This record gives sequence, C-alpha cells and structure tokens, in this order.
Amino acid sequence: RSKARVYSPERPRTTFDDIAGYQGVKGEVKEIVDFLSDPTRFTELGARIPKGILLVGPPGTGKTLLARAVAGEAGVPFMSVSGSDFMEMFVGVGASRVRDLFQTARKQAPSIIFIDEIDSIGRKRGTGLGGGHDEREQTLNQMLSEMDGFDPAEGIVVMAATNRPDILDPALLRPGRFDRQVVVPLPDLDERTAILEVHTRSKKLASDVDLTVVARGTPGMSGADLANLVNEAALNAVRRSSSEIAMEDFEYSRDRVLMGQRRESTILS
Ligand code: ATP
Repeated sequence: RSKARVYSPERPRTTFDDIAGYQGVKGEVKEIVDFLSDPTRFTELGARIPKGILLVGPPGTGKTLLARAVAGEAGVPFMSVSGSDFMEMFVGVGASRVRDLFQTARKQAPSIIFIDEIDSIGRKRGTGLGGGHDEREQTLNQMLSEMDGFDPAEGIVVMAATNRPDILDPALLRPGRFDRQVVVPLPDLDERTAILEVHTRSKKLASDVDLTVVARGTPGMSGADLANLVNEAALNAVRRSSSEIAMEDFEYSRDRVLMGQRRESTILS
C-alpha cells in the first residue's frame, strides 16, 4: 500500500457570484464548467477541452476561489492539494501521492483537481541545488505521466495555480498538459470596489462609508488583502464599541494592511 494519504473530495458551494469583478477570467473558465456539467456533449462533437489549465497571477488574487467556483458551478467534486504537500514527507511519497490523487479523481469523475503552488514541484528539472531534488523530479515525472495518462473524455480537469510561470518546467506546458493559461491579475479600481462590496455584504456600514474611496486608496492590494482589510476594519469598530463600521475604521485598517505588506516584503528581500 502506498503511504500517500487518501484524498477526500469536497463539493464546494462557491459560485461565480462569490467572485467580484474578473468577468473576463470567468468567461475564460466558463467552458470548463459547461464541459464538466455534461462531458458527453463535448466528446460526441469531438470538441477537445484542455486537460490542464494554469492560473497565473500574484498571491491572493483569488485563483483558489476561481477553481473552487468552477467546481461549484458545475456541481462536481473538488480535490485540492498544495504543491508543497507532495514534498513534505519521505522519499518516494510524492510520486505515490500524485498517483492516488489522480486515482481518486477518476473514481469521482467528472471532477476537478486543483494544485496550488504548482511551482514547488514543477520547477525546471536539473536546476535543483541538491537536497530533495531527486524526490521532486520523481514527483514531477509522475505528474507528467498522469497528465498524459487520462483521456479528457473521462471528465477530469486539472487546474493549477502559480505566481511564477517563468520557472516552470517547459514539459508541464506542452500540449495535452497545462496548455491553457488564464491570467488572474491584481484587481483594478472597479474590481477593488466590487470586492469590497462582496466582503461587506453582511456587515453594518456607517453612512459615511464610501467604498469607492476605500478602493481608490488601496491600489496594488489583492482580493485577499481587501478581505483582510474589511475584517480589520470590523475588528476596529468592535474595539471602538461601535455598532457600525465607519470610514475611520477603514483608514485604520488600510494602514495596518499596508504596514503588514511592507513588513513582509522586508522579510522576503
Ligand atoms: P494564493 O496564490 O496566495 O493561494 P489565491 O490567488 O489562490 O492566493 P485565494 O486564496 O483564492 O487567492 O483568495 C484569498 C481570498 O481573497 C478569498 O478567499 C476571498 O476571500 C478573497 N478574494 C480574492 N479575490 C476575490 C474576488 N475577486 N472577489 C471576492 N473575494 C476575493
């Protein structure tokens, strides 16, 4: 028996409505939803759907959210792993985990496999500086052979996310593997406003709150940053013993989030 863990698929309830903005991006993955909802309609016409879709964009822009929404919209099981999950244990486990993952997906098909941080296993081969590098290559090789091994007619779609497409092994991007890329950029002003609206939907806002103004003051923030910003604002309102979130809470939380970002970038650089 393999030492790999058994993957338990979830059935997400996330839909495209949970994703503010990103109309273009949603449009690009809509076809995958249609396919998973009724694979035979595609295969009967000989229409080929990509096996693998690479979501490319900075951290926190909603790539996981998007993949989950595709599963939710199509009503199919969703199996999510992080690239780094494959690497953490004993030698040889990475490859068998990949095998188990695809096996589970087959049993559950139509289904979606989502691999976050694919770059942690998918970095160009032969560039490792020793240390666990053989293990990583075995895992990557297994991934490539699993991608080749399934027939799209089985109703499996693999979605993967990365913010470093430039370091991926070119073999991963070949036709029949991750041959479609969907770019998920940082949100623009209108999208930031829409994201703030989604995250304040069930919150009490004071009448002085103008989310467009908040959005204008948060260029460069991702959806995850904005979700965090709204939560920090709510926490500050509680701290003030206020029953509503006011503009001053957003100003306070904006400084906090920006400061956090700065601290992170000092650590990283
Ligand atoms: P990472 O690459 O760091 O894993 P990611 O791109 O996968 O990040 P998610 O984890 O999907 O990002 O997003 C984090 C959170 O940010 C989401 O759970 C959601 O709360 C919020 N978010 C991101 N984008 C949007 C959006 N367009 N609309 C609403 N919420 C969003």
